[in-house]
Amino acid sequence: MRCPACDDEQLSKHGACRACGGIWLSEELVHERLARAPMFTGGGYSERHCPACDETMDEPLLFDVPIDRCAAHGMWFDKAELEQVIARANLGGWKSTPPPKPEDSLRMLIAAVGAWDRPKRS
Ligand SMILES: [Zn+2]
Ligand SMILES: [Zn+2]
Repeated sequence: MRCPACDDEQLSKHGACRACGGIWLSEELVHERLARAPMFTGGGYSERHCPACDETMDEPLLFDVPIDRCAAHGMWFDKAELEQVIARANLGGWKSTPPPKPEDSLRMLIAAVGAWDRPKRS
């Protein structure tokens, strides 16, 4: 699969892009790992294309962070976006009501990201 953020970069088998540090999490993986469905709020349309079906993606908010998502296939986190999602959930910065216990989702999200094969140092 091609990285939705880089022009010509292939994603690793775990969905990570070594060039930009972003990660693609398949809808299947997210549902398997998350205790509950992720809470999306608002958002718009992304210019980026789904690496699985090449359709343009939506840009919903997850913990108020805009991410790219193809409802059929999964979601893309830029490196900074993933860090923001994790940081916000961590710091209890979630303000919407009712609060969905972000720390539960967070734990599962981090577990999912544990599959991230980090670039080896040479
Ligand atoms: Zn990339
Ligand atoms: Zn798709």
